[in-house]
Amino acid sequence: MNRKEKAQKIGTILNKLYPKTPIPLNHYSAYTLLVSVMLSAQTTDKKVNEVTPNLFKYADTPEAMSKLEIKTIQKLIQQIGLAPTKAKNLKKMALQLIEGKGVHADWNYLESLAGVGHKTASVVMSQWYGIPAFPIDTHIHRLASRWGLSKAKNVSMTEQDLKKVWPKKIWNKRHLQIIFFGREYCPARNHDLKNCLICSWTASKKRIREEMNI
Ligand code: SF4
Repeated sequence: MNRKEKAQKIGTILNKLYPKTPIPLNHYSAYTLLVSVMLSAQTTDKKVNEVTPNLFKYADTPEAMSKLEIKTIQKLIQQIGLAPTKAKNLKKMALQLIEGKGVHADWNYLESLAGVGHKTASVVMSQWYGIPAFPIDTHIHRLASRWGLSKAKNVSMTEQDLKKVWPKKIWNKRHLQIIFFGREYCPARNHDLKNCLICSWTASKKRIREEMNI
C-alpha cells in the first residue's frame, strides 16, 4: 500500500470515528483564539479552557491586554506551563496587534507576533479564517511517522508530506481528527500494535517498535 492509499484508508477510519470536529479551545474572536492557541503550548487544551474565562474577563482585546502589567497577566495564567514567558509574550503581542490594527489572515504578520510560530498561525488561519492549513505538533509528527505517512525528521517536512496525501479542502478537519484520535487512542506507553485500529496495518512494526522503544 502506498502513502496515498494508506492516507485514504486512515481518512475513512477517522471520518467514521470523528464525523464532527469541534474546535477544542474555547474562544469568541480571532484574538481570543490566538491567545488560547498561544497559551496551549506545553499545556493541555483543557487547562487553557479553565484559565481563559477569567483572563478574558480582564482582557479579551489587545487594548485591554496591553494595559495589564506583565505580573498581573502572569498571575491570571499561572496555572499553565511557561506562564512567565507567555505573560511577557501576551503583553508584547497586544502592543504589536494595536500597531497592526488587530488580527489578520496574513501568514507573515501572524508569525511576526511575539510567541506565535507557524503552528499557532496555522491553527488561527484554519480554525478562525477557514484557510486550509495543517498545523503539526509533536503528536501529529509522531503519528505521521508511525502510520508510514512521512519519514520527515522535523515538523515542517511532515507538514509538507501530510499536505500531499490529503486534499486541501480536508486539511483543517483531518488535523483535528488526528488530534482527537491521538488523545483517545494513543497512550504514552503499552501500544497494542496487533489490535490497534491504525498501526496494526500501516507502518512496519519494526519501525514503530524502534521508534517507541518497545
Ligand atoms: S499503535 Fe495505535 S495507539 Fe499506538 S501510536 Fe499507533 S495508532 Fe496510536
